[in-house]
Amino acid sequence: MRVLKFGGSSVGSLERISGVVQIVKEQLDKDPRVVVVVSALGGVTDDLIRISQKAALGDTSYQQELVQLQDRHRAISTSEAQNDQIDKFFKKLNDALHGVMLVRELSKRSLDFIMSFGERLSAYLISEAMKPSIPSAIFLDARELIQTDRNFGAARVDYKETNARIQKYFADCAFVPVVTGFIGATKERETTTLGRGGSDFTASILGAALHAQEIEIWTDVSGVMTADPRRVPQASPIPQMSYQEALEMSHFGAKVLHPPTIAPALSQKVPIRIKNTFYPKAPGTLISAEPQNHDSLICGISSISHVALLRVEGGGMVGVSGVAMR
Ligand code: ADP
Ligand code: ASP
Ligand code: MG
Repeated sequence: MRVLKFGGSSVGSLERISGVVQIVKEQLDKDPRVVVVVSALGGVTDDLIRISQKAALGDTSYQQELVQLQDRHRAISTSEAQNDQIDKFFKKLNDALHGVMLVRELSKRSLDFIMSFGERLSAYLISEAMKPSIPSAIFLDARELIQTDRNFGAARVDYKETNARIQKYFADCAFVPVVTGFIGATKERETTTLGRGGSDFTASILGAALHAQEIEIWTDVSGVMTADPRRVPQASPIPQMSYQEALEMSHFGAKVLHPPTIAPALSQKVPIRIKNTFYPKAPGTLISAEPQNHDSLICGISSISHVALLRVEGGGMVGVSGVAMR
């Protein structure tokens, strides 16, 4: 069993989606048990947030943006039946946004529900794009499997329930599911999200529950690099690293991997491989418990923008407990 996750940059257009279908087909030739996890089409989550904020302010121009978003998804559809399904998704999305506009309030809970449409639309469209060459592809809504608490925006996973559901679902599954990344649901079936960039986490939750051979994160760079390639053009891919190193790099700003992704994989010692959708031949980065040593002492450098260091000092603080907390 292999879990393959494709990020927003890998599924931005019909052409890119065909590249993804090709990668999945090649994997299926090697191992018939494959689970695909996808993010929303590139930029769609940001669009949905902006549209929701406009609706909450009563700015009706959100409706035009919604139509543009619908057109973008329709451009990826290849049949009238798919267009009808997209329109159904957008009808529900429109209703939700209309509600936000009427009450002029955007709760975290409503925003999670609205954001979930990004992954639901992309997983549906990608499963349809796969069907001509992979007839066993089916759309799978992760809200059926991943149960979380009510911490909307960054929900925590109930692993006991989630693992049991995943194992039950896959015990006799003869399909290639295309699963919505990023989203889950509470016990009461309210929609939640796992934090921005959380589709990597979805892949890891599935990979760990299924004791997968490998979790593959397919993105737009050839692995975890020695630094963010957008800032440091001469950065190069790190061939192998430990879970601990990957955790530190991602926690301190390497966006290529969503930080909570490491924990489920580590718990079952499932290796994570970072691969480039646009250059599949590149070996990428293998994250595992026992990486072959890299020769430099420093594995990589990460950076975080917009961070301020606040220094509070003064005689009045001497011996006064609780100042830092206050
Ligand atoms: P996806 O849409 O596939 O989830 P992301 O945008 O979330 O992709 O993550 C990939 C991006 O992470 C890269 O394009 C790169 O700019 C950024 N990044 C930051 N630090 C690193 C790093 N050390 N190695 C690789 N990529 C990094
Ligand atoms: N679509 C979500 C986001 O933009 C999740 C992800 O891309 O992993 O944050
Ligand atoms: Mg990402």
